[in-house]
Amino acid sequence: MNQTSRVKRIALYGSTGSIGTQALEVIAANPAMFSVEVLTCGNNEELLISQALQFNPNIVVVADEKKFLKVKEALANTDIKVFAGERALEEVASMDVYDMMLASIVGYAGLKPTLNAIDNGKAVALANKETLVVAGDLIMQKAVEKRVPIIPVDSEHSAIFQCLVGEVRNPIEKIILTASGGPFLGKKPNYLLNVKREHALQHPNWSMGAKITIDSATLMNKGLEMIEARWLFNLQADQIEVLVHPQSIIHSMVQFQDGSIKAQMGLPDMKLPIQYALSFPQRIPNDLPRCDFKKVKSLSFEEPDIKTFRNLGLAMEALEKGGNLPCIMNAANEIAVYAFLKNRIGFLDMTDVIERTMQKVKFINKRTLEEYYESDGEARSFAADLIRL
Ligand code: NDP
Ligand code: MG
Repeated sequence: MNQTSRVKRIALYGSTGSIGTQALEVIAANPAMFSVEVLTCGNNEELLISQALQFNPNIVVVADEKKFLKVKEALANTDIKVFAGERALEEVASMDVYDMMLASIVGYAGLKPTLNAIDNGKAVALANKETLVVAGDLIMQKAVEKRVPIIPVDSEHSAIFQCLVGEVRNPIEKIILTASGGPFLGKKPNYLLNVKREHALQHPNWSMGAKITIDSATLMNKGLEMIEARWLFNLQADQIEVLVHPQSIIHSMVQFQDGSIKAQMGLPDMKLPIQYALSFPQRIPNDLPRCDFKKVKSLSFEEPDIKTFRNLGLAMEALEKGGNLPCIMNAANEIAVYAFLKNRIGFLDMTDVIERTMQKVKFINKRTLEEYYESDGEARSFAADLIRL
């Protein structure tokens, strides 16, 4: 935190996305607490420009270098510095111009800037779960080394984090990650075979970016979250349980060694975990709708169907085996999801691509960052070849 003022300076990585735009609403509602220092996007330069004109950051970065001139020209009458390219995203993360990074780029592309933020001693509010799936061991090790807090934004992990406040000395027996079940809860493979992109993009409870919405429909999202939880809370695979809870009111639970269970609840709205991560350890008021249990009436629970939603089973395997297997799985999943979004492959083909890539790319148990980069590249090209066949 900047010592001279109480305003927390935020570097918002992925500001044009679902998390990014909601974070800007939270920041706009609390101008005395937060300022926007950095905004970044992939290629949606129009939105980046309008955000920059509204929030007047120090720096903006557009990952797509072809968009540089357009952004530069649009902001020519301001003091805002404009950079472009993947390298610039990483370099700006290493600059001492902000207090906290909100890591909300989607996918593997978020890894290097987040690592640089930690190296730079900056607190991280982490939405980008793929970062921990790929290199959770190295990220958490670096965070401890640099004494950098990593505060989860993902609603389940925010719930667990909130349940753990005041419990530092009390070991966790297990955590219960709740899952809505997605739009195809209760469906069987013969139904999933014909599922189309538009249908899979309709999530019952949450409005999110395209990639995570598909991951929620396949239950890969819950698999990624198991691995994310493993690293955030230093758990073993058998301490992480997934429970389907279609109402998404309980965002997750922690069971302690005496059998006591704490849950964090609320209406499904990402602005709450975003706000909590930005303002932690403080809770700040807001006017989001409140949960009225008389209207919710009942909360229900069931086991996930991993025979139908095989991606969750594959993620459990990756979690148990560890090494570079989660990294390989993540890469294959990203390729498969984007191919599905482009109508190149069917819903169930995504699982085949992931499974075959996990079987094919060499398993490495003890790994370095370079090896993760290599495994990621190898898995991507193998998965892409499978799709081209
Ligand atoms: P979106 O797709 O809505 O937004 C992604 C953001 O990342 C956009 O700003 C996008 O820019 C940017 N981006 C995409 N690709 C690149 C790239 N190659 N280089 C640089 N920037 C890039 O995703 P969400 O906001 O839904 O999700 C962001 C992360 O948060 C994901 O990891 C997701 O799993 C996690 N998360 C999201 C939740 C949600 O409710 N949305 C809930 C929990 C976790 P552009 O707009 O220009 O393409
Ligand atoms: Mg989640």
